[in-house]
Amino acid sequence: MNEEKKITVLKLLSSHDEVGDVRTFVFDANGLVWLAGQSQGYILPQAGDSEAENQRWFTIASAPSEKVIHIATRVSSSTFKQTLNTLKPGDSIQSYDLGGDFTWEEVSDVSVVLVAGGIGITPFRSMLVERASQGKPLNATVLYFNRTDAVPFRVELEALAAIHPELHLHIIIGQHISAETILASEPQAQQRTVYISGPEAMVESVGTALRNYGISIKQDWFPGYTEKNY
Ligand SMILES: Cc1cc2nc3c(=O)[nH]c(=O)nc-3n(C[C@H](O)[C@H](O)[C@H](O)COP(=O)(O)OP(=O)(O)OC[C@H]3O[C@@H](n4cnc5c(N)ncnc54)[C@H](O)[C@@H]3O)c2cc1C
Repeated sequence: MNEEKKITVLKLLSSHDEVGDVRTFVFDANGLVWLAGQSQGYILPQAGDSEAENQRWFTIASAPSEKVIHIATRVSSSTFKQTLNTLKPGDSIQSYDLGGDFTWEEVSDVSVVLVAGGIGITPFRSMLVERASQGKPLNATVLYFNRTDAVPFRVELEALAAIHPELHLHIIIGQHISAETILASEPQAQQRTVYISGPEAMVESVGTALRNYGISIKQDWFPGYTEKNY
């Protein structure tokens, strides 16, 4: 079934709770090299026979400088997530098709706008931690929408913002994500590149609306999440 995929086997080193139902799984990178913001597919054969059961895509939430691979996800009731959650240190997961262009574009030092819907924060965590480790400016406004005040990576992002005055972090709880709420929170988004990551339908509709305002955007779509569970 998976014979055409070039598989890299990754061993679980540890896992820990973040907030609410979000958990981080830390894997040995096993030689994989990635750019902050990239993602890959994962297979857990023991989660079932069909791809719907045993395969998911995840952004690598860790920065390359951290040298380990983090999957950060909401542990839902799906067979895949439940199986992932039973892995013990030393257990393995298969990964494939590492790549993607949802990465920070080094076109100018003009600040960018990073819009995250909930767990859609994972690529931005990777990008910001990586830039900080390289001594690069974190010239961004982060508009981090979350359904509740259980905000994944809040402490870490606030700590980065505290030592990087060029990083502006706005955590927005319980508000509908739309082009209008984005522009109300960051009017300069009109002149900036806006990166949007989160539930597929939100990223699609907000992306279309921002494009209609003439705004340049980059998108990262997470299927499986909606306004109710992101
Ligand atoms: C490029 C890319 C990057 C991504 N990065 C991330 C990431 O960093 N983090 C992340 O979390 N996701 C990421 N995703 C999305 C990820 O691949 C999954 O689609 C998502 O996590 C939902 O997984 P799930 O197993 O809960 O999904 P699904 O099985 O689609 O479940 C969706 C919802 O339905 C519910 N559900 C499913 N089965 C049942 C059942 N039998 N009974 C009751 N309820 C059920 C679940 O509880 C869940 O709320 C990414 C996707 C892409 C394409």
